Amino acid sequence: MNDSMHDVAMTPVLPGSVDSAGQRATLGVLGGGQLGRMFVHAAQRLGYFTAVLEPDAQSPAGRVSHYHIQTDYNDPAGLAQLAQLCQAVTTEFENVPAQALQTLALTRPVAPGAAVVGIAQNRIEEKTHFTACADVSGVRCAPYTVIETPAQLQAVQHDRADLLPGILKTARMGYDGKGQVRVKTAEELAAAWAELGGAACVLEKMLPLTAECSVLVARGWDGQVVSFAPQRNVHVDGILAVTHAYEENMPPALAGSARDAAVSIAHHLGYVGVLCVEFFVVEGGSEHGSLVVNEMAPRPHNSGHYTLDACDVSQFDMQVRAMAGLPLPTPRQHSPAIMLNLLGDVWFDSNGGRREPDWLTVLSLPGTHLHLYGKLDARVGRKMGHLTITGSDVASVKTVARRAAGLLGLPGLDDI
Ligand code: ATP
Ligand code: MG
Repeated sequence: MNDSMHDVAMTPVLPGSVDSAGQRATLGVLGGGQLGRMFVHAAQRLGYFTAVLEPDAQSPAGRVSHYHIQTDYNDPAGLAQLAQLCQAVTTEFENVPAQALQTLALTRPVAPGAAVVGIAQNRIEEKTHFTACADVSGVRCAPYTVIETPAQLQAVQHDRADLLPGILKTARMGYDGKGQVRVKTAEELAAAWAELGGAACVLEKMLPLTAECSVLVARGWDGQVVSFAPQRNVHVDGILAVTHAYEENMPPALAGSARDAAVSIAHHLGYVGVLCVEFFVVEGGSEHGSLVVNEMAPRPHNSGHYTLDACDVSQFDMQVRAMAGLPLPTPRQHSPAIMLNLLGDVWFDSNGGRREPDWLTVLSLPGTHLHLYGKLDARVGRKMGHLTITGSDVASVKTVARRAAGLLGLPGLDDI
């Protein structure tokens, strides 16, 4: 469901090329966070110039880009400058105003497009989409209902008591577990909806999860699609803590179904770019459990950061290639990997005092790849970087991951 509903031809933006006016091939990104920074690194490695549109002067991506347009995402002059500088534009966060993407798309290829980003921005539309392609993808979302009015809230008590205990989630602007309240009773639900300001929400049934996983898909302008194997994710307090990326990370049958479902969801959207689809594994179905689709991110994803160090083509390389109309080769993972997220918590001791993590010891461990995003102040819960551990076999990767997690005081590794 791209803007034209059809896959379109795209004249490739060739790496390192210079046009007749002497302008270098430049790729643009809306948003200046860590995902934008890693996109910029990937684009620059291929010889592209980069432009970042981001209001924050100190942003991780703005600091490493050739151009940093420091305006609001909706600023007409900023958007015009981005379009003038760039041959193609992408986004690094889903809450970018869809209007900004629409404006850019008038003059430049924009991947992903405003329509699909708009769907991913809104849990109600997202679930409608997942449901619409469930027959093809083979995967449904958790049982849910929409709550936008007091009448819909009331109706839960009478008609949808099966959804309790559940999770009330705002339709828009949720991430890292924000905008979510867990509720057990109709009274708690009413209080939670009031707490969320009566915003448009979905109430989702609380499912007995046995695992969570996600799949990264890259799809080109011509409809060509490639995918990475599913990675298993461990969340702590609603934030991704650990990603396990190796063959034995989940039952093969479930991994195959998740991968196929993510690809069909991308096709059904007419998606161009990198898409991450998150799944739950729940008890029941087969002996290994069954899959439920949770949500999607219209961009590279935290759970795909291991691809930088463990695959021959990373999720950010794929983002660059897809938007620029370059070939999308099947990615190959050459090493098993575990990724540990580094939140600002790592910079504080148990008394709340500031400390410098013991990087020298961590980096002396074999196969450790440290990525820090260049954020100046560490705050609890803030994503500051990640550490990927690669090795020749899963057992040694797990051993090093445990040691690194111990040194840094990281949670989420109890089950390995
Ligand atoms: P993200 O940072 O991935 O954008 P988010 O804030 O958008 O997160 P979700 O992915 O919907 O929120 O939920 C966060 C986490 O809460 C999930 O990864 C899962 O651990 C748990 N969770 C969410 N919905 C359910 C559910 N219906 N049943 C059980 N657990 C759930
Ligand atoms: Mg999520």
